Amino acid sequence: MSEIFGVVGSGTMGNGIAQVAARAGFQVVMRDVAEDFLARGMRSVDKSLQRDVDKERLTAEAKQSIVGRIRTTTDLADLRDAFIIVEAVTEDLQVKTDVFKALDGITNGNAILASNTSSISITKLGAVTKRPDKVIGMHFMNPVPVMKLVEIIRGAATSDETYDIVDRLTEKLGKVPLECNDSPGFISNRVLMPMINEAIFALYEGVATRESIDGIMKLGMNHPMGPLTLADFIGLDVCLAIMNVLHDGFGDSKYRPCPLLKRYVDAGWLGKKSGRGFYEY
Ligand code: NAD
Repeated sequence: MSEIFGVVGSGTMGNGIAQVAARAGFQVVMRDVAEDFLARGMRSVDKSLQRDVDKERLTAEAKQSIVGRIRTTTDLADLRDAFIIVEAVTEDLQVKTDVFKALDGITNGNAILASNTSSISITKLGAVTKRPDKVIGMHFMNPVPVMKLVEIIRGAATSDETYDIVDRLTEKLGKVPLECNDSPGFISNRVLMPMINEAIFALYEGVATRESIDGIMKLGMNHPMGPLTLADFIGLDVCLAIMNVLHDGFGDSKYRPCPLLKRYVDAGWLGKKSGRGFYEY
């Protein structure tokens, strides 16, 4: 088996996954659609590792060798020799199915194709390939280098062998794998997103200020950050996409996205990444 770990998408999640895989010793090939996205991704990797160097958790030499193990490319064909590819592109079914079809065509038939999707069906992604038994969800949490959990999602056709390989690989990355079956939002977002959406409804209805909503959940429930801050951190577009998946997937009105969330996304106020969301950055 090759030691090449492929990553598609170099955004918030993709560059974090690349960093963690390189730190675990894998040769990483990270692909995005344009050089400037890749450069931005590598700047994030550099910044994140530099924090560890500053805190003396990593030597400058070790940082350099981790960075040196990440190769960037705009050519999908450069992923052809990877033993696993983790897809972390935009949360959009069409975009992801196009990527899965293309990966299925260029990689060898034994390669595992994993998706970091927050909510899209792993079964659907598997079905567009000729290897649905080797398609699986590897749902990393943000920020990837810090968060321990990887939610491992079995699609309808995912084999036990694929599951076992990914389970062991996750541990090799220094993470904790927890298993879940394919269902809208899996466990993490099925429980988290309705809470965030409800907090947005409370703001929308004028029940409390943003500071008060966040403070109540933070201090009262011992959450490390309030739901509106967390939404800004995740990205409001991502939150809206997940609520839409839950709403469509279950056909239950309790998952309807709050109109205020839609309005913010329409305005381009996507949270921390765009400089404005429920807070200003
Ligand atoms: P992002 O917008 O930061 O990055 C997405 C990247 O994918 C962009 O750089 C974009 O150029 C690239 N891309 C789009 N189409 C591509 C293609 N065909 N080939 C290669 N690259 C392509 O998004 P993100 O927050 O990193 O989210 C990525 C995935 O991870 C989504 O499925 C999201 O649901 C999931 N996720 C996000 C979070 C989070 O907190 N942001 C947490 C867990 C999972």
